[in-house]
Amino acid sequence: MQWIDSHCHLDAFEFSGDVAQVRAQARSQGVVHCVIPAVEVANFDAVRRLAHQTQDSYCLGLHPLYVPQATEADLATLEAQLSLHRDDPRLVAVGEIGLDYFVPALTQSPLREKQEYFYRAQLKLARRFELPVVLHVRRSADQLLKPLRELGSIKPWQGIAHAFNGSAVQAQEFLKLGFKLGFGGAVTYDRALQLRRLAASLPLDALVLETDAPDIPPHWLYRTAEQRAAGQAQGRNAPGELPRIAAGVAQLRGLAQLELSKAMRANTCQALPKLAALLA
Ligand SMILES: [Zn+2]
Repeated sequence: MQWIDSHCHLDAFEFSGDVAQVRAQARSQGVVHCVIPAVEVANFDAVRRLAHQTQDSYCLGLHPLYVPQATEADLATLEAQLSLHRDDPRLVAVGEIGLDYFVPALTQSPLREKQEYFYRAQLKLARRFELPVVLHVRRSADQLLKPLRELGSIKPWQGIAHAFNGSAVQAQEFLKLGFKLGFGGAVTYDRALQLRRLAASLPLDALVLETDAPDIPPHWLYRTAEQRAAGQAQGRNAPGELPRIAAGVAQLRGLAQLELSKAMRANTCQALPKLAALLA
């Protein structure tokens, strides 16, 4: 069975010592491809090099949590890099971009407006370079949708609302605009009732799978505050966890894993069309 990790920060510092082993371990579990999003100008080269080294793919963009320190010059660098690498078969999207209204400082002026400015500017770049977008959505679904509607009226969007955790109505709105919804570690928690209901009931062609490694550990890696106080380390999420997350989603949907794996491959290629050639 073959799986695609549609969102994995393989260049993260947590993997700096053993990224080759982490990738090889995932491959041995059937993870044939990882999409590695950028978060700031400082990691653009790292994600590109790594994607070529591991035969995966990458995105270029400014993550909302990195917007506080981002400048106009960073947008110019992004534009120049998109222009320079637009024909790179491994550059599959602009990302990860979006809005984060979970972190309190980012919900208030002037960072709230700054986030919105960078988000909109990057959507325009995606349009200009005809690339899909990988979206970071955290308590921000409605605000994310507005510029997508405004800029998407001529041609539908392609891309992924990653680590989706919104309502059924918000899910439908992203789907209407042409997006797939990324499901990962969060769906493995029994208490994530609404999310599990969505993963079970959305049309199969709405979903893609991801680990968001090293973030969002699935429940089997999660250590509570008490466990950590007692000396247990928080488990490190890695792309090799994808098949177990997928098994959970297959079970939620009452679907054979092989069936799910085929559908996820088709969906991910729809969201990120350049993947099809890389997987062939
Ligand atoms: Zn991410």
